[in-house]
Amino acid sequence: MGDWPGKADEQDTTFGDLTRSQLMKRVRSSGNETTEMTMARLLRKHRLSGWRRHLALPGKPDFAWPKEKVALFVDGCFWHGHTCGKNITPKTNSLQWREKIEGNQRRDQRASRRLRGDGWSVIRVWECQLRKQPQQCFARVARILQRARGKR
Ligand SMILES: [Zn+2]
Repeated sequence: MGDWPGKADEQDTTFGDLTRSQLMKRVRSSGNETTEMTMARLLRKHRLSGWRRHLALPGKPDFAWPKEKVALFVDGCFWHGHTCGKNITPKTNSLQWREKIEGNQRRDQRASRRLRGDGWSVIRVWECQLRKQPQQCFARVARILQRARGKR
């Protein structure tokens, strides 16, 4: 993640209404670091424990509760192609960008399917939801985890 496909990074171009540096900022913040930290802080704040980071599971979930078999992904809007308006595609090499983002989406779907097939509950939270409605995001995670604990 975070690689620029093609030669887009070598060219002096604008992207929609954004300048290159504005876009780069957006791309970087859509990488997972910021959103993962936000989620980790949220979980700690509510004392929801038992999670592990980056276990060797399909799609490498950002957070996973192995006992309860709950996997949580926090997806950056840009790289995972959320249709919230934050995934503006640069005009330069746009086909390569689209392919890259679509490739990510296919990988996401495959990972979710494989996990569900293995009996995991899969939660996907968008970067923008987490930023705007952290409480709702947390409530969803807590609810699904509770349900998974009830089943055992
Ligand atoms: Zn979004």
